[in-house]
Amino acid sequence: MDWHSLNLSVGFKSGVIPRSESKQSLHIIIAKEGFLHKKGDRHWRPVNKTEMHWLDLETHSEHYLGHIDNISIYAHDIHSAPKNHEEYEFKSLWQLLNELDQSVFYLLGRAQQIVDWNRNHRFCGKCGVRTVASEFDRSRKCTTCKEAFYPRLSPSIIVLVHRGDDILLAKNVNSRGNFYSTLAGFVEPGETIEEAVHREVMEEVGIRIKNLKYFSSQPWPFPNSLMLGFHAEYDSGNLILQPEEIADAQWFHYTKLPNTPNQIAISGWLIADFIERMSQST
Ligand SMILES: [Zn+2]
Repeated sequence: MDWHSLNLSVGFKSGVIPRSESKQSLHIIIAKEGFLHKKGDRHWRPVNKTEMHWLDLETHSEHYLGHIDNISIYAHDIHSAPKNHEEYEFKSLWQLLNELDQSVFYLLGRAQQIVDWNRNHRFCGKCGVRTVASEFDRSRKCTTCKEAFYPRLSPSIIVLVHRGDDILLAKNVNSRGNFYSTLAGFVEPGETIEEAVHREVMEEVGIRIKNLKYFSSQPWPFPNSLMLGFHAEYDSGNLILQPEEIADAQWFHYTKLPNTPNQIAISGWLIADFIERMSQST
């Protein structure tokens, strides 16, 4: 079985209950330090059953994620990196981000979020009693008050605002690295996604937008966002930056862009889509 020949984006079927007919399995090992990675491997890969046996890791929880070509895929939480396996190291999802295929990035994001959810809901947030994992779905249930806890997803909007040939890009005060990106923010309780787009743009840069068009979505597991991407057109107002969030924001001609996010992030897709459409129309 060659991991790198499996086409996850087509063949992966998610699930909660392991399939009894699957004989082979692959294992994603997660510690607080990140994902287990064999030193010298050019690309990250999960470990197989034999390696798993040989590694003899102390697993705190095990989660079936789904299968591909009758091969079961599991995530294992081992809490902390073991000291006695010098040929392996641990890499965070951030460290792996630029070297993973999109579908592997999504699988590792799924694994990370499920392990985090399991770690963070061992006790009931309502009455403090221990919870137990459900056998039927991805939930942990309180043994006393019966409250159920599911992995949390936080919907977020991300929007490329354009004015003619220009794109509005901003540098976030907390951004990693020196680059400009499209505007983004979390959806609030009681708000539609469209309202969130208008509000975030107004709050962060003080302008009105119009002609909102849905573009695409992307799971973004830092820690649990679901990004909903839009294009929008400038309507009115001058740029007034929110200093707690935005270090700088400017209009850039689509042929003269600063350093922008790469193609693994939806922000990069939005920018590439705009450039392509502008290039075709000239
Ligand atoms: Zn409870």
